[in-house]
Amino acid sequence: MSYVCHTCGDTHEGVPHLGCDQPDPYFNVPEEELGQRVFITSDLCVIDNEHFLIRGVIEIPVHGQEDPFGFGVWVSQKEENYQTYVDNFESGSIGPFFGWLSNQLSCYDEDTFCLKTVAHFRGDGQRPLIEVESTDHPLSVDQRNGISLERAWMLVHHYM
Ligand SMILES: [Zn+2]
Repeated sequence: MSYVCHTCGDTHEGVPHLGCDQPDPYFNVPEEELGQRVFITSDLCVIDNEHFLIRGVIEIPVHGQEDPFGFGVWVSQKEENYQTYVDNFESGSIGPFFGWLSNQLSCYDEDTFCLKTVAHFRGDGQRPLIEVESTDHPLSVDQRNGISLERAWMLVHHYM
């Protein structure tokens, strides 16, 4: 569906997605130490052999749209659960696993870093679905109640 954007005035197609390519703790490691201390792929990250993170997606329903708005985010995992995911990468029958949200989503005024989440594994080459704990935090409210297409594009423009 074409949408004339209230934020930029352009016409956009479909429902947007946003993604964080790294978990925030990645940026605490000095650039010259990244090679030694950090393992990172598009789905997995280990820092100092101590912090285990996986990439998933928070899906937010968009009113009147079939497709949800996707927020690509990182969540920390217990080493044991991280390893289970690595060993069963294509499986939808592991988990769900608890994790701490490991990105500050700057389009929210409130802290999003370290919100409680649960990762639901879907298999089929899809990234895990990240469910934010049900609270009155605006991100949790958005996930529960959905957002307008206008707000989805507003969020995206916040990062452009
Ligand atoms: Zn726009």
